[in-house]
Amino acid sequence: MPSGKSSVELAVKIKEGKTSCVELTRLALKRIEETSEYNVITSISDTALKEAAVIDAQIKEGSLKSPLAGIPIVVKDNICVNGLVTSAGSKMLKDFVSPYDATVISNLKNEGLLVIAHTNMDEFAMGSSSETSIYGEVHNPFDFERSAGGSSGGSAASVALGITPISLGSDTGGSIRQPASFCGIYGLKPTYGRVSRYGLIAYCSSMDQIGPMAKDARDLKELFRIISNPADKSSVSSGLEKDKKIKVGVLEGFEKTAASFIDTMREKISEVKIIQIDSLKYAVPSYYIIACAEASSNLARYDGIRYGYVSENSEDSDYIKTSRTEGFGTEVKRRIMLGNFVLSHGFYDDYYLKASQVRSLIKKEIENLFNEVDVILMPVTLNEAPKLGEALKDTLKTYKEDVYTCLANLTGNPSISIPVGMNEELNLPKGIQLLGRTNEDELLLDLAVKYQETIFLDRRKETNGI
Ligand code: GLN
Repeated sequence: MPSGKSSVELAVKIKEGKTSCVELTRLALKRIEETSEYNVITSISDTALKEAAVIDAQIKEGSLKSPLAGIPIVVKDNICVNGLVTSAGSKMLKDFVSPYDATVISNLKNEGLLVIAHTNMDEFAMGSSSETSIYGEVHNPFDFERSAGGSSGGSAASVALGITPISLGSDTGGSIRQPASFCGIYGLKPTYGRVSRYGLIAYCSSMDQIGPMAKDARDLKELFRIISNPADKSSVSSGLEKDKKIKVGVLEGFEKTAASFIDTMREKISEVKIIQIDSLKYAVPSYYIIACAEASSNLARYDGIRYGYVSENSEDSDYIKTSRTEGFGTEVKRRIMLGNFVLSHGFYDDYYLKASQVRSLIKKEIENLFNEVDVILMPVTLNEAPKLGEALKDTLKTYKEDVYTCLANLTGNPSISIPVGMNEELNLPKGIQLLGRTNEDELLLDLAVKYQETIFLDRRKETNGI
């Protein structure tokens, strides 16, 4: 429906009989066709309309009451959906039809949401530009020549293009927050452990988290509730209570960009402190050592025997080698080699062990900072969305761009990216990032809702799609 309405609003309309899951699904499928040149979708459910009719019937008879019942959603191609090709953007899994649902997908289905398609991504979620997929590159909805970001570029661009108002991505080092920021939408990397990883194709298990992406902050909050587990009772998980005011730590050097957010939120802020994160300079090196080490182990299972692509050119003796050589792309192979290197005898202590120790130090520093402030405000990225092709030219430079996002994955803290208007000169969206205490995902979501209410809600533009 070309209305730009939020999922929460659309679900009310369904309950009132003013629209239906079938109608919204039809429109979403049509929108997928209209926007096919952006290359955001990898596989489409051919039973979607049938399932939509069942959902409509259940809503009508009153057995489905969830606040998002009847809303179509798209999910990243590394989250298993029963009956859909779930390939993680890789030739290795291009024929893999998932025989089961990831836990988050079961959660969605239980609340009457309808998964209609998988979204394009960097192969095995390794990348920052959604260009390493076997399905080809994803284009940015604001500038066709630029990247939508990555690795959840398809999930971010789908929402920005109005295919569905919400989507799911995964974030190991920034893959929800960075594309969300490049496409002008909200994205949350939940506290590590709040969202089940069952059914997520593993990249780096100690950092991977599935999370919600949305055009509207209220939808982001609702979608998080649906896919997450309640926080451990021993930890604080209160949102932004009525009279609560928060202390904000602004990363030094970011004061100017942060100013408009702080000004908008001044009613809710009791104190602003400029902070430094001394260990930030070690975030990228330790992230890439640990991520590659875990990736090399996680991807060892793709041998063409138990899992994955089987080469037709192989002899019995080199069966595994040929299948892996042909099945994996360049970036994935680079990381497997790096990972094997940092774990190998003689180098383990200098690289993997050292990186793990540094990770503990970073964690300690962030924990200490949260004794002084409630949230940390910092950039999402160093630069705006790159032109297509640029990110692949200089791998090291691209890795370094993850500095502000991979921090939350190393420490396990929740982190949200919030769209804060446009870079008028380039006509590209701008974003900021808020890092929160462990299990205070709800506070971050409430702050995003509050910010949206204050600034965006009444001047939201009409967009195409639903
Ligand atoms: N750009 C980072 C990487 O390539 C993050 C990826 C992710 O979060 N999945 O590892």
